[in-house]
Amino acid sequence: MSELVPEPRPKPAVPMKPVSINSNLLGYIGIDTIIEQMRKKTMKTGFDFNIMVVGQSGLGKSTLVNTLFKSQVSRKASSWNREEKIPKTVEIKAIGHVIEEGGVKMKLTVIDTPGFGDQINNENCWEPIEKYINEQYEKFLKEEVNIARKKRIPDTRVHCCLYFISPTGHSLRPLDLEFMKHLSKVVNIIPVIAKADTMTLEEKSEFKQRQESMPFAVVGSDKEYQVNGKRVLGRKTPWGIIEVENLNHCEFALLRDFVIRTHLQDLKEVTHNIHYETYRAKRLNDNGGLPPVSVDTEESHDSNP
Ligand code: GDP
Ligand code: MG
Repeated sequence: MSELVPEPRPKPAVPMKPVSINSNLLGYIGIDTIIEQMRKKTMKTGFDFNIMVVGQSGLGKSTLVNTLFKSQVSRKASSWNREEKIPKTVEIKAIGHVIEEGGVKMKLTVIDTPGFGDQINNENCWEPIEKYINEQYEKFLKEEVNIARKKRIPDTRVHCCLYFISPTGHSLRPLDLEFMKHLSKVVNIIPVIAKADTMTLEEKSEFKQRQESMPFAVVGSDKEYQVNGKRVLGRKTPWGIIEVENLNHCEFALLRDFVIRTHLQDLKEVTHNIHYETYRAKRLNDNGGLPPVSVDTEESHDSNP
């Protein structure tokens, strides 16, 4: 019975502006060690990152993801069997890898979508891709509402979708617009102009004038060349070597910095807090506020008295 205790009286809970206190005078507390604690935790558990590539065959999607992660994380067209034809519909393939750098493990999944935009009639070819993205949200939701839910739900949700625009056109084709219109509601899309080395400077600037800083005009390569005594990733042409990471040659480095060095965590957070949350709210709403029915959960027992 707290009201019988006369002293000390708790202060009324008046919301106050937090006052910044300089702890230097009072001695070190150790608040800043949270950074080190978080670092250790990430080192121990690693983190997931799922990246999807979309665009017509031959635009350099596989080459670019291999360039981004400096490893063979995506199968290139050249390693294909000659008999292997262009798939009749969009085929979706997810391949997982573990990449380690500085003791930090990234569980990278590259989701390839061969067949997108390769048909004569490409109407609605974004649909299987949207379906795949939503299926991953559904999987996550089912795990989340499970009574015996896992501590760490396996995350297969697409955190980032690189959309490859053909360098031949002077602007976006109807297919590009349709894709971005529909998919930007469910996933983070980063548009890139593929094979930017095949465009003239005028073409490039004309293309970019229509939009903002995006799309990044990129060049991919997994071959190294010696330039001024340094080994660089590049493409050798009769006119010289196009250096992938040289900002005077293309914007690959800007894309790499954005996706990996400055916004990777943001891409994951937006996926969880906005795209997944929207899916989840809609799903629970449609179901009258109840979690989705799943055979894995205990619902099946409800019918038994
Ligand atoms: P995907 O079908 O979109 O995955 O394309 P690939 O990555 O398999 O590449 C198709 C072809 O284009 C290969 O011969 C690559 O060497 C070439 N290629 C890839 N990236 C570039 C680029 O940035 N510029 C040029 N000129 N060619 C590229
Ligand atoms: Mg490919």
